[in-house]
Amino acid sequence: MRLNVPVHMESETKYIQDVLDSGVLSGDGRYTKLCHKWIEKRFQLCKCLLTTSGTAALEMAALLCDIHEGDEIIMPSYTFVSTANAFVLRGARIKFVDIRPDTMNMDENLIENAITEKTKAIVPVHYAGVACEMDKINEIAKQDHLFVIEDAAQAFMSKYKGKYCGSFGDFGCFSFHETKNYTMGEGGAFCFTEGKWIEKAEVIREKGTNRSKFFRGEIDKYSWVDKGSSYLPSDINAALLYAQLEIADEINQNRKESWDYYYKQLHDLEQKGYLELAHYPSHIEHNSHMFWIKTQDIWEREKLISHLKKNNIFAVFHYIPLHSASAGRKYGEFVGEDVYTTKESERILRLPLYYGMKQTEIDFVCQKIEEFYGGKPI
Ligand SMILES: *Cc1c(COP(=O)(O)O)cnc(C)c1O
Repeated sequence: MRLNVPVHMESETKYIQDVLDSGVLSGDGRYTKLCHKWIEKRFQLCKCLLTTSGTAALEMAALLCDIHEGDEIIMPSYTFVSTANAFVLRGARIKFVDIRPDTMNMDENLIENAITEKTKAIVPVHYAGVACEMDKINEIAKQDHLFVIEDAAQAFMSKYKGKYCGSFGDFGCFSFHETKNYTMGEGGAFCFTEGKWIEKAEVIREKGTNRSKFFRGEIDKYSWVDKGSSYLPSDINAALLYAQLEIADEINQNRKESWDYYYKQLHDLEQKGYLELAHYPSHIEHNSHMFWIKTQDIWEREKLISHLKKNNIFAVFHYIPLHSASAGRKYGEFVGEDVYTTKESERILRLPLYYGMKQTEIDFVCQKIEEFYGGKPI
């Protein structure tokens, strides 16, 4: 059993064929526009721009914030490399702060301690699609005039206090990589709520040119106007994504049912003290991106992984904290004490979860976990 199986349906094939038949395969075609509109409307954004990846969306954010040599960026160490790389590429140093053990997100109460006169931005990562404490984070950012860039790569369709992730910060970055809830193979989206960013964002995404304006007929020729790169995906990829957006609520609901079922089936083992399950604050509504359990320690986790593997179940752990990786040591440092980041990262284990997963499959995984703990004293 794989950890993840990407969504696949007939309408995807039909829409991709549609793009191929149209003969316009490059970016910003019909399906890209449909995706933009869908996302803007649902998440109440001023603008959504599809990108070639979540990484590209983060890079756009770094460019728009005009990050340069000597700037400092605050983020958790427990995240994917792209969260840091996007800013390191522009010459910034990364200040890693500790996470909360319940959500595995950056601890909002430790952010202020990491702020210096060089700080330019805070980058909350909604791990497993579980929202960070955005009220507090935005309040801190406002006080110190810092940018807030949401790494919402895993949080498409997640909510915080009833509002969608990706719409809280100055910029929101989504990923539609194969491993995420909604996918276009490789891809992402760059989003914001303030109109003042539109022109600059379009230029950065279109190789530093004002080609977007040209296509809208607002100018009669386009030229190089600023820094930029190529961040727009092919309409073929957008067609794949649009088919999934059409059934976004169904995908979300289906994953939630699987998530809840896992929780119910493993609750007993938690009660008996064998493992730990997630306990999220009640004001967040996550997108069931990930179902994780926590083992006693890294050794127990290793044994459980191999027990599951013997039964053809692929459960995996997640990030090696960035501050302990060689590039992380070179480009940043941990601020304060690492109470939870390393310890919790060594306990977490992700179980298979995907759209359309059968209850019998979840039963099988849970049964094998029970079997593992069965013979063990508490
Ligand atoms: C997946 C992911 C990214 C990168 O997205 P890509 O589309 O693979 O570039 C960035 N940050 C986090 C937290 C992610 O999970």
